[in-house]
Amino acid sequence: MQVKINRFTLRELAPEARRQVMVRAQGDFASVEERTREIIENVRARGDEALLEYTERFDGAKLDASRLLVTPEEFDEAERLVEPALKTAIEQAVANVRRHHRAQLPPPSWMEEFQPGVISGERVVPIASAGLYVPRGKGSFPSVMMMLAVPAVLAEVPHIAVCTPPGPDGTIDAATLVTARLCGVERIFKMGGAQAVAAFAFGTESVDRVDKIVGPGNQYVSAAKRLLYGQIDPGLPAGPSESIVLCDGHADPEVAARELLVEAEHGPDSAALLVTDSTALADQVEQLIPGLLAKLPEKRREFCESVLAGYGGIVIAEDLDDSIAFTNDYAPEHLRVLVQQPFEILSRLVNAGEVLLGENTSIAFGNFAIGLNAILPTGGGARSHSCVGIEEFVKRSSFAYVTDQGARTLGPIAIELAKYEGFPGHREAAQYIYDRTTK
Ligand code: NAD
Repeated sequence: MQVKINRFTLRELAPEARRQVMVRAQGDFASVEERTREIIENVRARGDEALLEYTERFDGAKLDASRLLVTPEEFDEAERLVEPALKTAIEQAVANVRRHHRAQLPPPSWMEEFQPGVISGERVVPIASAGLYVPRGKGSFPSVMMMLAVPAVLAEVPHIAVCTPPGPDGTIDAATLVTARLCGVERIFKMGGAQAVAAFAFGTESVDRVDKIVGPGNQYVSAAKRLLYGQIDPGLPAGPSESIVLCDGHADPEVAARELLVEAEHGPDSAALLVTDSTALADQVEQLIPGLLAKLPEKRREFCESVLAGYGGIVIAEDLDDSIAFTNDYAPEHLRVLVQQPFEILSRLVNAGEVLLGENTSIAFGNFAIGLNAILPTGGGARSHSCVGIEEFVKRSSFAYVTDQGARTLGPIAIELAKYEGFPGHREAAQYIYDRTTK
């Protein structure tokens, strides 16, 4: 079986060609912008009617407004449909996600008198409402459900709603429903794509408007979030999946090859790169891939083939330093590290949504079992964003209280700066308080 796998040698690449290797589907906004704008505009203008039309067109499900929200009976039916072994795995995974996220509970509200009479602090409060986007198109994602619901519930967001596309029969993936209920979230709308993002942003007759939408999705979902920025907080950029498997010559090629396919099998829009300074390892991985692909079902095999010849492939670096520099520039969502001394380079891996160290720490364990949050920034977002966590669902609001003594110290500072910045109103307000407290 012939498989085309891109191969790039960093030393041979001009800067523009190197930048091209870093391009991902998420950067391809132009190809979906027009259609996404049209969907958004229709949902804004026509609410439920447009939402239901798009659900029929893209998901093949003919619903009426009364069937948009999942009912308690549908949750009960889902409980019956999910096999006990899967239910046990979901329960164990949710428990691990809870354990990991409890450790990141945000610092409590605080208050301190930093100088006599000047008291300041911060209150940490949950956002009022959140919409969780759980994708379903090329697959079903109970794992995404738990990664979003657990931190939102721990953050005590008072209003949590979920959206996820229905299947053509109008039902929601059973395991996703079971997971949602286990996490304590039962308001689930049967909708997906750009139309769901727009419905959450504007609200419709049946769908609640929310302040923030969090969760991964395809190019249409990413584009809608980008276009609706300002109308809704789009959270971290979480587009098509991507990974770098960073190896030195000591890596086990079997492990490296399998890990490379983990994120590639998500869809043709995924990115998966093997980055190594060992051409011998690269050759071994390349030889193993056709055999591994042959074992995959047709759909997943085709996704992987598209990725390896598209947004993925093998990158040959000069040495380990060069591999690390490329990885930091790329800022991958998932970073799998297969080098002899992984902890020795951990502090230098600064741009990655998550770093999975050593031979046993499969991306599959990260996505499903360890408890780390697998909703991670994509498209280079790892340069400035973190993975989803409790802080995604809380905000800080600062407060202060100034006594007479404090006003006497602060007055002159405020008056001077107000004069310089040309704000007479500020100066007058500060002067008035200062004069009153110094009488
Ligand atoms: P999805 O829910 O994101 O998209 C399905 C929806 O896309 C459909 O409901 C439909 O409304 C819309 N759509 C499909 N074709 C369309 C078209 N031609 N025009 C307009 N709208 C259209 O599910 P998906 O497609 O399977 O994508 C899931 C994405 O999420 C993948 O890219 C995957 O890599 C990514 N993902 C990311 C993470 C992460 O943590 N970053 C985790 C899981 C999945």
